[in-house]
Amino acid sequence: MPNWASGAVSVTGRKDSALNFARRFIYEDAQRDLAKPYYFARSFAQDSWGETIEIINNLFDGVPAGTESKLNMDIEFAWSASSCLLFDNSNKIPGSITLSDACIEDNVSVEIKTEESDLGFIENITCGKDGSVTFQTQDMPVYVCPVCGSEYFIKSYMDISEFECMLCEKTGLISKEAD
Ligand SMILES: [Zn+2]
Repeated sequence: MPNWASGAVSVTGRKDSALNFARRFIYEDAQRDLAKPYYFARSFAQDSWGETIEIINNLFDGVPAGTESKLNMDIEFAWSASSCLLFDNSNKIPGSITLSDACIEDNVSVEIKTEESDLGFIENITCGKDGSVTFQTQDMPVYVCPVCGSEYFIKSYMDISEFECMLCEKTGLISKEAD
């Protein structure tokens, strides 16, 4: 089993562009036609394809044709978003495409933030419509069990006050920098 980098992906583009881009992720409820479109390696959408179409339809409901909107997606990347999206994986994973090539083809700009809580890193990736990529990575903040001192990386959507220590089973963590 891989470690997972949980990604918040924002896609800015017209409706047809957003649909084309969204199709490149892997969905549990959709069979992939490897020939078309080229897809993102090891990048799993948390919403189903059916839900994603509904989200896009709602997002562009009443919006004049040709107007851009911002689509937000939750994507789980195996190992890291950078390894899935920025490297050319097409030798190992036929039919895969890089983020840069996809942004050019689909005419979208993209912002991605991920958190990987096993190794404890955060990725910030942007890609413009011209395919130009920026990539930064940083350490996740460390949280500590106040009872036994065990240390954890906690994804930002999780509540540290509800987190149960895996060693002593006490609930609630504190920031390591706080003491
Ligand atoms: Zn503990």
